[in-house]
Formats: sequence, structure tokens, C-alpha cells
Amino acid sequence: MSNESTITLRADWGTTRLGSQPIPVHCGRLAYDLDLGEWECAWCDDRVHVRDVPGWPHRNPGPGEVR
Ligand SMILES: [Zn+2]
Repeated sequence: MSNESTITLRADWGTTRLGSQPIPVHCGRLAYDLDLGEWECAWCDDRVHVRDVPGWPHRNPGPGEVR
């Protein structure tokens, strides 16, 4: 049995804001918006879904997570 609701928090990602728009950041750079909530790092091509980005405003903070 796999738990499909498990969120894998990507601690190497962060969130910044461009005006009022939250943007995921990786490698110190803004990510590119792909589609369906997915973003790609402009530097190392790593991909992430916003639900896994620490500090993303539309998700609930995980246990022990400091915003
Ligand atoms: Zn990166």
C-alpha cells in the first residue's frame, strides 16, 4: 500500500515574490513556470510542484516548518 497523499517537501527549494506573485527559487534563481503547478529551475533543470515548495502560500505548512 502506497500513501499517495504524502507530500515530499523539497527543502532545497524556496519561495520569493515578484510583486504579489509567489515564485519558486532554486540555485538562487527564479524558476520557470511550466504547467499545472510545475516549475523548472533555470539553472539545473530540476523540477518541482508548488505543493512541495517550502513557504508556498497556498499550502499548509508541514510539521516543524518555519515560514
Ligand atoms: Zn536548481
